[in-house]
Amino acid sequence: MPTDIKSLTREEIEVQFKSWNESDFRVTQLLGWLYAHRVTSWDAMTNLPKSLREKLRDHSSLQILELARKQGSGDTTQKFLWKLADGQFIESVLIPANPALYGDASDRHTLCISTQVGCAYGCKFCASGLEGWKRNLGVHEIVEQVLAVERESCKLKVEGCKLSTNQPATFNRQPATVNNIVVMGMGEPLANYENLIKALKILNAPWGGGIGARKITISTSGLAPQIRRLALEPLQFRLAISLHGATDEVRNRIMPVNRKYPLKELVKACEEYQHEKGRMITLEYILIAGVNDSLEQTRPLASLARRLHAKVNLIPYNQVEGLAWERPGEEVCENFLAALEDQNVIATLRREKGGDIDAACGQLRLKTERELRRDGGKYSD
Ligand code: SAH
Ligand code: SF4
Repeated sequence: MPTDIKSLTREEIEVQFKSWNESDFRVTQLLGWLYAHRVTSWDAMTNLPKSLREKLRDHSSLQILELARKQGSGDTTQKFLWKLADGQFIESVLIPANPALYGDASDRHTLCISTQVGCAYGCKFCASGLEGWKRNLGVHEIVEQVLAVERESCKLKVEGCKLSTNQPATFNRQPATVNNIVVMGMGEPLANYENLIKALKILNAPWGGGIGARKITISTSGLAPQIRRLALEPLQFRLAISLHGATDEVRNRIMPVNRKYPLKELVKACEEYQHEKGRMITLEYILIAGVNDSLEQTRPLASLARRLHAKVNLIPYNQVEGLAWERPGEEVCENFLAALEDQNVIATLRREKGGDIDAACGQLRLKTERELRRDGGKYSD
């Protein structure tokens, strides 16, 4: 397989163009077509000489995510199921920004992106891990999720947002739909470390996605060595830890990764991250009935949060088909939140029902894969 053009940084493309005796101006034009116009074919790059387009075509692929299925519409959460070149499925979820969670005005959108097909970490409550790990996503497949979603929403709504092939290359960004990225889709991002970081660099670069590093949150189930490595990256990404239990006993029960990197080691890595970055970490805590929702659990959780100067995001568990876990009642969640606040912890409780990020990630794919198996290749909406 040739390298995909969206796996390359500007510098790498410049080296290639130099060897072809092409100027940097041509690189700027190419990047404009890819990231500002988000075109889907080489032929659309009308102001690049045909000979250069031919060379590019011979040398690289230009893979586009194929929309297999979409759920939701209008201002609410939209879930996109993409079919990859090898027939695998992944999900991205577009969420109207929740000011309480991400501190942004409500015309902003957050895109939740995937980094792997499936997940090897097998957390007991999660749809993404249910059928194991298939493969890592390539850099371009991570980057393309943002571009493909923007293409789809352009098609729907934005006046004057033309993706026609003969559009003059002014290279102003088309109106962006995605202002924030959360790497909370399918897969464990830090287990696909190199591709993740390169993709995020491209999505952050002014010549690429143009999304500020502080608007990009990486979520991990707790891969301590990779958290330390992330601490040394120059870009200031935000970090969220999927904690879900404040003791080894609870974490061991629901998250096998904790046996490899128990809390003590995870907390040390988080402290190192904070020391390097000086940034606030978020602790994600799904409330699962009878597992981690008792008020006693707020004590170790509050003490961890205070130690890490971390904010806690409480998320009532979203039911996954085929799994027996349940979300606690509203009162239990509210009391849990109040108990944390009483212990001087900054905490939020996600109150919206159904289709939020976590409900979505991994579940549409699981549903589709199951339907395909059942109905011999067809799925229905
Ligand atoms: N592998 C990474 C990122 C993807 S999971 C991680 O675990 O952090 C994104 C978030 O969704 C994690 O916090 C995960 O624990 C949470 N999640 C998974 N299944 C969920 C469910 N059924 N209900 C609510 N949150 C869920
Ligand atoms: Fe993988 Fe994250 Fe799901 Fe755990 S919660 S199985 S690490 S995607």
